[in-house]
Amino acid sequence: MSEISENINKIKETIREAAEMDGRATKDVCLIAVSKRQTEARLQAALDAGHRVFGENKVQEAEGHWQDKKATFPEFELHLIGSLQSNKVAQAVSLFDAIHTVDREKLIPLLAEEMQKQQKKVTCFIQVNTGAEPQKSGVLVSDLPNLLQCAKEHGLEISGLMCLPPKDENPAMHFGLLRTLADKYGLPCLSMGMSNDYETAIRFGATHIRVGTSLFGERDI
Ligand SMILES: *Cc1c(COP(=O)(O)O)cnc(C)c1O
Repeated sequence: MSEISENINKIKETIREAAEMDGRATKDVCLIAVSKRQTEARLQAALDAGHRVFGENKVQEAEGHWQDKKATFPEFELHLIGSLQSNKVAQAVSLFDAIHTVDREKLIPLLAEEMQKQQKKVTCFIQVNTGAEPQKSGVLVSDLPNLLQCAKEHGLEISGLMCLPPKDENPAMHFGLLRTLADKYGLPCLSMGMSNDYETAIRFGATHIRVGTSLFGERDI
């Protein structure tokens, strides 16, 4: 399983080169190891390699993977990168350190209340549907100001934006758009880039990249 350790080193080297081109350092880019649908042995190999930041797209599965392990590591971070159902908000606030998929007004008061109740701050990103794809979650670019306003009214801090570019389009255009939007609204973080395009995403300013397959190998199911 040292293959995973090698993959992490290779990815970090790519991060370093791409970040340098954008005038930044490796530490300015957070590598989120996307562990959804990966085996226990692979998760353990990443932990053994010293990796501590993981991403999951389902609350239930994340709990199974990490609930018992997370307390062992003080620097452990868990990021939710899949859609959040409103009936899972309490569970999500308790389990995750960051939520990348705030995508509708309804979630905002729920998240704000729950953080207050649990006395826990979770870093929030708004997911933007930059390709305006009907089947994809995320707010349309035109609805982003409303969602930001709603967050402000409820005292929910938004740290950044996240996108998932359409499969058949050049991702650079979408990364560029997300960066422009984050600059416009003064948001410091950009969650963009996956196995196939994280290098480009970093050159466009990504602060958080979400890498699954290139790090762990093909998923189980
Ligand atoms: C699964 C997933 C990833 C990781 O994709 P890979 O191509 O395996 O790197 C990144 N972001 C989101 C939102 C995902 O659901």
